[in-house]
This record gives sequence, structure tokens and C-alpha cells, in this order.
Amino acid sequence: MHEIRCEGCGVAIQSEDPKRVGYAPAQALNRESVLCQRCFRIRHYGQIEAVEQDPDAYYRLLDAIASTDSLVVLVVDLFDFAGSWIPGLHRRIGNNPLLLVANKVDLFPPSTKWGRLREWVYQSARDMGVHPVEVVMCSAAKGMKMRDAAQAIEYHRRGRDVYIVGTTNVGKSTFINGLIKEVTEEGEDVITTSPYPGTTLDAIRIPLDDGKEIIDTPGIVRKDRVSEWVEPKELKLVVPQSTLKPKVYQLNEEQTLFFGGFARFDFVRGPKQPFVCYLSNRLYVHRTKLAQADDIWRKHRGGLLTPPRNSEALPGWKKHTIHLNGRQKQDIVISGLGWVACGKEKATLEVWAPEGIQVTTRPALI
Ligand code: GDP
Repeated sequence: MHEIRCEGCGVAIQSEDPKRVGYAPAQALNRESVLCQRCFRIRHYGQIEAVEQDPDAYYRLLDAIASTDSLVVLVVDLFDFAGSWIPGLHRRIGNNPLLLVANKVDLFPPSTKWGRLREWVYQSARDMGVHPVEVVMCSAAKGMKMRDAAQAIEYHRRGRDVYIVGTTNVGKSTFINGLIKEVTEEGEDVITTSPYPGTTLDAIRIPLDDGKEIIDTPGIVRKDRVSEWVEPKELKLVVPQSTLKPKVYQLNEEQTLFFGGFARFDFVRGPKQPFVCYLSNRLYVHRTKLAQADDIWRKHRGGLLTPPRNSEALPGWKKHTIHLNGRQKQDIVISGLGWVACGKEKATLEVWAPEGIQVTTRPALI
């Protein structure tokens, strides 16, 4: 019997075990396009089930790319650049060229200095040991710059196969759906997308005119991302759904901001100055005195200071001390959560974020 694959996520269909990945009832197999039960529920009821993925299997798949002659397209989430990087990627793809697709530009305000953002993406990639042939900044969900992305892929693939790689939740499935629309003008979504990690389970192969293929690999789950520590219904509070609206806080030294229960921003020393927070519009920001911050955290974590409601699930906080030199405006980026734009004053800051979440600075984008 030939293998049937799910139209949504690409996994091999089986009808034996409803709890295992790829289950579809036997009577569904006669349909022209078969969906696994999971994709069926996502598509028809908006219900999402978590699935287990095996990172070893993922890395085996990635390592196999090294021995091919292909273009590798890495999709990253511009909003969680560090968290959406695949560890050790540069060692795994061999000599194949890498095109970097930086997704979710729609979250950045229109006043963003796009050139600077692009330069930051290049620099961040170089810091990870990768020299992309090009960086395309797009929004798959909003259909922004998707034509540029399709053209860049066509240009750089030079008649070769294309492997699309990325961690879960960066918008890879949405990107591929958009890409297929660009190449085939098909109106309908053919790959299931979801706001919860792990939707694409097995490689999907999309044939191209010249006999080559676009190969969509499953997304690897990273356990050290903000999005992994919240329940699905809290995800929308933390991961922004629409363009960020800045929130301005005029702080005196020895004042603190809590970003929900995820991170804490202490303005330790310096003249009074504004700090502009670019976070999910729905994330609660609590302002208090530094001297009281420890107490407030002890009393209100998981309550006033949410998400996450289950604050025990978070790894412990790590302190990042940052000295602003007052020479240029800087952003303090908390990967996956957002950033705080600081002015040209001197300041000493302490940012507390869960272990594993990167806290970095970059020249101000706005
Ligand atoms: P995958 O796990 O990488 O395949 O990611 P999905 O395509 O399932 O998308 C993950 C989440 O990111 C979903 O909630 C999408 O709606 C959202 N998303 C995808 N692309 C974009 C985008 O361009 N902008 C924004 N704001 N969200 C996006």
C-alpha cells in the first residue's frame, strides 16, 4: 500500500492508534485529501493539541542537508531572533548557501529604521557563525514582501532544491503557505498553521516546475523560548499579535518595571529619563520602587504579575547588568518578549529574565 501523508502537516497517516501522531480514522482515507486528526481539529475547530517531537530525528534530517546541493532557507522570528535560531546550524548545512528570512516585520512600528534592523539581523547571524547570501524581511501572515522572498529564493537556488528550516512558531508554515500562493497563485492554505509549537511534523515536499522541490522540514522545538513556558491561552498575551504600541515610562533611579511575571527591569542609577517599552500590547507592566520589588515578586508572582500563571514552570531569573554610556541611543532586547528603548542618558540597569532568554543591546531602531 502506498503511504498516505497528511495534507496539513505532512506526517505519515496511520489508522491504528488515535493517540499517536498521524492518526486518521480508516473511513477518512478514501478522501482525495487526507488530514490527520490533529490538523483536522486545528483547521475545523481551531483546537490545538501538543505533540512530542524527537530532536535527534530532527538533527539527523538537518545533517542530511549537508550532503545535498541545495539552497537552505532559514526562517526566523524577528521578534525572537535568538530564541528562533537553530543551535549549531552553521555546522550542519555544509557548504550550502543560506538565505535568511526574517519574519513578522508587521510587529515593528512604521517608524522603525529598517536599514538598522536589517544590519542587526546580518550582524546577529554573523555572531552565530552564519553568513547569509541575503536577508529578506517579510511578514508571512500579512503577506508583506512575500514576492521579494519568492524572488530571492528563485534567484539563489539556481536550479537546486530548497530546504526550508526553522524552529517551531517562527511562522514557517505560514511562510510556506504564502510562498505557494506566490508561486502558484493558489488561494487556499495548504499547510496547517497554528500559534502553538510543533505543527509541521514531517517533511513536506512541494514540487517545482524544473523537477526540483521545496522541502519543508519540521520545526525543532526549543525549550528556552518564552513561548514554551506559557499555556496556549496565555500565549496571546505575551507573543504580540499586532503592531507594537510603545509604552513610555518616565523613571527615577531605583524604580522597577515588571513585564508580567516574565522579566523585571530595574533602573538602578542615573538621572530621571524615559524608557519606552515595545512589548505585546496585552502584556501587563507593573511599576514599583526597586526597594519593594523583591517583596512584590514574592507576593504577586502568578497573580498580579502574570503571565505566566504557573510561574513555577519558569526557569530561575538571571540578572543582566547593563551600563548605558550615554553616547548613542540603545535598545535592550529581551528575546521573545520585546525591547526597551533607552535614551542618551547614562544609566545602570539590571534586567532579570528567565535563564536561557537572551538579553542583548543594539543601536536603537526607532
Ligand atoms: P511554525 O511553527 O513555524 O510553522 O509557525 P506557524 O506558521 O504555525 O505560525 C506560528 C504563529 O506565528 C501563528 O500564531 C501565526 O499566526 C504567527 N505568525 C506567522 N507569521 C506571522 C507574521 O508574519 N506576523 C505575525 N505577527 N505573526 C505571524
